[in-house]
Amino acid sequence: MSQNTATEYEAVIGLEIHVQLSTNTKMFCGCQLQFGADPNTLTCPVCLGHPGTLPVPNEKAVRYAIATGLALGCSIAPRSMFHRKNYFYPDLPKGYQISQFDVPICSDGELAGVRIHRAHMEEDAAKNIHVGESGRIHGAGRTVVDYNRGGTPLVEIVTEPDIRSGAQAREWLQLLRATIKQLGVSDVNMEEGSLRCDANISIRPVGATELGTKTELKNMNSFRFIERGIDAEIARQTALVNAGEKVRQETLHFDPSTGSLTSLRSKEESHDYRYFPEPDLVPVAPPAELIEEIRASLPELPLEKADHFENGLGLSVDTARFLAFNAEIGAYYQEVLLEAGADVDAKRTADWVTGELVARIGADADPAESKVTPVALAQLVTMVGEKKVTNAGAKTVLDRLVESGGVPEQIVEAEGLAAMGDGDELAGIVDAALEANPKAVDDMKAGNMKAIGAVIGFVMKQTQGRADGGEVTRIVREKLGL
Ligand code: ADP
Ligand code: ZN
Ligand code: MG
Repeated sequence: MSQNTATEYEAVIGLEIHVQLSTNTKMFCGCQLQFGADPNTLTCPVCLGHPGTLPVPNEKAVRYAIATGLALGCSIAPRSMFHRKNYFYPDLPKGYQISQFDVPICSDGELAGVRIHRAHMEEDAAKNIHVGESGRIHGAGRTVVDYNRGGTPLVEIVTEPDIRSGAQAREWLQLLRATIKQLGVSDVNMEEGSLRCDANISIRPVGATELGTKTELKNMNSFRFIERGIDAEIARQTALVNAGEKVRQETLHFDPSTGSLTSLRSKEESHDYRYFPEPDLVPVAPPAELIEEIRASLPELPLEKADHFENGLGLSVDTARFLAFNAEIGAYYQEVLLEAGADVDAKRTADWVTGELVARIGADADPAESKVTPVALAQLVTMVGEKKVTNAGAKTVLDRLVESGGVPEQIVEAEGLAAMGDGDELAGIVDAALEANPKAVDDMKAGNMKAIGAVIGFVMKQTQGRADGGEVTRIVREKLGL
């Protein structure tokens, strides 16, 4: 039988996130961790995989892994093992990575509706650096290895396939990043690779419960690319299936500059790695008291923060989540509130931060690194509240602050942006506006107050935005006896 209606598909997405822990030293040796140091200056026989050396676990890394698991609502295993994951690659001098296998230190958690399958400890590989064409090997470029990164402590977080779109993946990852940042266990700097994300993607007919064949998008290093990469892959799979073809299980690379997806390799299975228990390490068995001590020291996390923004400060759900999940913007907002003092309007302040400021510097930028200091923005918002400057005037002030910093009061003064009070000057301009808009006056008298728009527009034009709309409305009503 032929089917007339096209099948509707839904996307199913699970994420694997690698987080570099910001300990002072590496996972199994005493080498310093430092991003950007001269290549191969932070190494020792242990992390270079010399025979006869022995790994010693980093206690702080274990604590950080437990803190991460607790923040994600996981159970902490009373006893978990390290395993060797065997494979050959130049960035892995031992020929295996010390990781965890059947019993991870953290499992069965949940963050904002996405279940956490597991979070385990492992060590990072070194960094292969592909340098330009050398011509030595059949014209291919050369690859050199910087072993400084090798042995960096990692937590790998694996979600259940509970995500349904690129946008949801992006928002959830922002929450995860903010959560880890708040814990203080990682720099979570995506450009430097301290937070890296792989996305597993499949589609299935809406209503189906079985999972489709998945592909894996490797190592995307910005939230925007993750969202775009996932959406591109969903579109690719949907087109394939609609054309009667099958999705092949493979690993893909998303090129953000072209939007294209290319195949890297067919995926290894877990048995290809010949996992076996690390014979040089005893199991990790954190005492219950240690786990409780770590639990008790967890800071206020972004989800609680969102709740506080929404229910304590009266922000909308969306604004509250945006601020709480975007760690830097949220911290900046709280700083502005603090500078502005107890009487400030938290909602108006949020609008200026999430609306006007973000529109000017971009949602991925850290406002603390902009030229607009929290003190300056606090002052500007206060001036708007006190009607010393209109919204339109304040936007001009913010333009100047973003360009070159400065003090709002001085900018208002220098650029003649001070709001017009309720003095005779404004009344005179309103008179002129009413005279110039007789139809609007008739309409208002007939009960259509929307017509006031034309009058306000006239006044704003005359005053270059320095008049307060509310004040103009008040004067108009007074003059027309409405
Ligand atoms: P693999 O053995 O290929 O590594 P796992 O079962 O370990 O796969 O899962 C890895 C990640 O892929 C997890 O985040 C999981 O939620 C996700 N995942 C597994 N199967 C699917 C699927 N069919 N569609 C989308 N994501 C999936
Ligand atoms: Zn070392
Ligand atoms: Mg896996």
